[in-house]
Amino acid sequence: MDKSPKCSRCGKKAIIDIRYREEKLCRRCFLKFFEKRVHRNIEKNKMIKPGDRVAVALSGGKDSTLTLYILKEMLNKVKCELFAVTVDEGIKGYRDKAIEFAKRNTKELDLTHIIVSFKEIFGYTLNEIVEKNKVLRGARGPCTFCGVFRRRALNILSRELKASKVATGHNLDDESQTYLMNFFRGDIESSLKMNCDESISELFVKRIKPLSTTPEREIAAYALVKGIPFHMDECPYAQEGMRNVVRVHMNKIESTFAGSRENFYYFMNEIIKHLKTKEKMKFKLSSCILCGEPSSKEICKVCELLKIIRG
Ligand code: SF4
Ligand SMILES: [Zn+2]
Ligand SMILES: [Zn+2]
Repeated sequence: MDKSPKCSRCGKKAIIDIRYREEKLCRRCFLKFFEKRVHRNIEKNKMIKPGDRVAVALSGGKDSTLTLYILKEMLNKVKCELFAVTVDEGIKGYRDKAIEFAKRNTKELDLTHIIVSFKEIFGYTLNEIVEKNKVLRGARGPCTFCGVFRRRALNILSRELKASKVATGHNLDDESQTYLMNFFRGDIESSLKMNCDESISELFVKRIKPLSTTPEREIAAYALVKGIPFHMDECPYAQEGMRNVVRVHMNKIESTFAGSRENFYYFMNEIIKHLKTKEKMKFKLSSCILCGEPSSKEICKVCELLKIIRG
């Protein structure tokens, strides 16, 4: 007798256990479940409208690759333009391999793909920044430089390409981790800015995150089931940040109490929404006095970090 688990919806052979929904799903039901949630997230949060020019921030990893595939499929329904942009941080043996996947997927989908590097914009690769920072005994880890510079590079490039939105691959795990990291840092402002629905600066291209309600594990499963190629290696600097500690602990909580991650994410979203309406907390960024880019302080984070590595 066949003892393999059965799909809770149709009785066919299950391929995945969605513990927090107490459901086991077969290939067909899983793909449907997955796509429905992403589409609902896009529609509910009015992420895309006809006429938009959407730049997908494509790293080559599973999250951004799936964002690209899902948005491409939606083009039949929503008439907008889509293209991919990649920021090459300059992490030897890691990002160069990921970029090969990004090129392969944009070619497969017949989409324009533009690549820009840290070296071109800031004058240093991330590898060079890390080395300089070591010599200067700087307290900041590689991810601080990487995240701040990548966001800036992405914004400059998308603005130059006249994108109306930048779609990133942030998933439910990323978003919950960020909320928790902001919490531990006492940084409420960053959480308030995370899902800004109003434009915070004319120079800032609005971000959308179609996968923000989807767990990372299901993204990997979807890509594997659909046979979508993506870069799987881990960044050599990944173990060094606070995110890694938060990730380990959140995963432990989720595996013991299924659904905790999703509950935490929606709980935080509600608090943020409440704060924004009740306290009328609206953000408008001004411009950095040194580079003119959007900034909440007189001198932006990029200029501050560049000053550190220039010594
Ligand atoms: S792990 Fe850190 S250094 Fe590596 S790509 Fe991510 S943010 Fe950049
Ligand atoms: Zn089924
Ligand atoms: Zn600046």
